[in-house]
Amino acid sequence: MRNSRGSIMRPDPLPLSASHPVVTPLSPSVVYASETPDALDDQYEGRVQGYTYSREGHPNADVVAKRLDAMEGMPGGVVTSSGMAAVSAVVLGLLSAGDHIIGANQLYGRSLRLMKDDLPRLGITTTLADPGDVQAVKRDIRPETKMILVEVVSNPTLCLADIKGLSLLCREKGILLVVDNTFTTPRGFKPFDHGADIVIHSITKLLAGHSDVMLGYAVARDPAINDQMRVFAITTGMTPSPFDCWLAERGMLSFELRFDRAQETAALLADHLAGLPGIKRVLYPLRDDHPDHALAADLLGVSGCNMVSFELEGGRAAANIFTREAEGLNFAPTLGDVGTTLSHPASSSHRALTTAERAALGLGEGFFRVSVGLEAPELLLSVFTNAVAAATS
Ligand SMILES: *Cc1c(COP(=O)(O)O)cnc(C)c1O
Repeated sequence: MRNSRGSIMRPDPLPLSASHPVVTPLSPSVVYASETPDALDDQYEGRVQGYTYSREGHPNADVVAKRLDAMEGMPGGVVTSSGMAAVSAVVLGLLSAGDHIIGANQLYGRSLRLMKDDLPRLGITTTLADPGDVQAVKRDIRPETKMILVEVVSNPTLCLADIKGLSLLCREKGILLVVDNTFTTPRGFKPFDHGADIVIHSITKLLAGHSDVMLGYAVARDPAINDQMRVFAITTGMTPSPFDCWLAERGMLSFELRFDRAQETAALLADHLAGLPGIKRVLYPLRDDHPDHALAADLLGVSGCNMVSFELEGGRAAANIFTREAEGLNFAPTLGDVGTTLSHPASSSHRALTTAERAALGLGEGFFRVSVGLEAPELLLSVFTNAVAAATS
């Protein structure tokens, strides 16, 4: 009908089919046309479900949100254009000038930067504390403290936050406990079962899993908080691209298999590295020589996750040889990819710190964090054996 009037502006609807596609269609349309103003009223008043403008929501984002809602066991989550957009939707969407937030002292680098540089500029005061030490966190609480932001397992020393203790503290004081569950994933840890109020993900990492998508997600226990975050995300344009959501959904279909495989290999790699000459120390939460082993076993059970850190003897010179000799492994600042990636905090995530500050965290020039991928375990272990030998002999 429409095209018979010669209009090329309005495409015909998709051809009808009694059968349905097995893959979610990609919906890149920015706008959605309604039949009449009355029909639009019905939509805005919530009497019927429909989309209007994709900054406010689109089918591919909703598909990803529903999947993550199911994984975290909480409805109403918001998908954002990156993990940092999700962190910002939580912190900037919920806090106001005069409020105070306590952040974990080893948060993801950009989250730390938000805490140190941006929030104070907006009149939100911040304090960093050790999330494994509930008494220390308690001492930093003020009357205006509204939120505590932690990651379950820290980067890159893989220290554990005392989530149970923090959630009791937050309940007692009426403070929101926000857990960035990116490293641990809903497969390894369920923050809402341990008293979290809000959960954040960088979908970019393990959930999407292929280093070809940037997306984030945040969900709160309280539906009113979800609404507040959603409105802020829409107003500030944190909208995800339909194509990224479409790719993320595809990645998430294999997430559990990938995660299980990667963490099994990570446990093998940790034990293997610990037995190699030239390795000063290995950090893996489930090994009994990890400083937070008891807390890790309590919170994570058998799920040690896919991150392993270790320190090579020989400092920067050995580190340079190691990345060059680690055949087939990318030296790249990300994690959760299908392939194993190596991160060297002294030259990347922690380069802004002084040598003394890095030393206080145990991050010498020989320190590496490994995000274990899906390579055949025997092959991966032999790559490490050879690269460590080349670097430290
Ligand atoms: C990567 C990451 C983020 C930020 O996510 P992006 O998608 O890169 O913006 C936040 N928190 C943690 C723990 C991360 O690893």
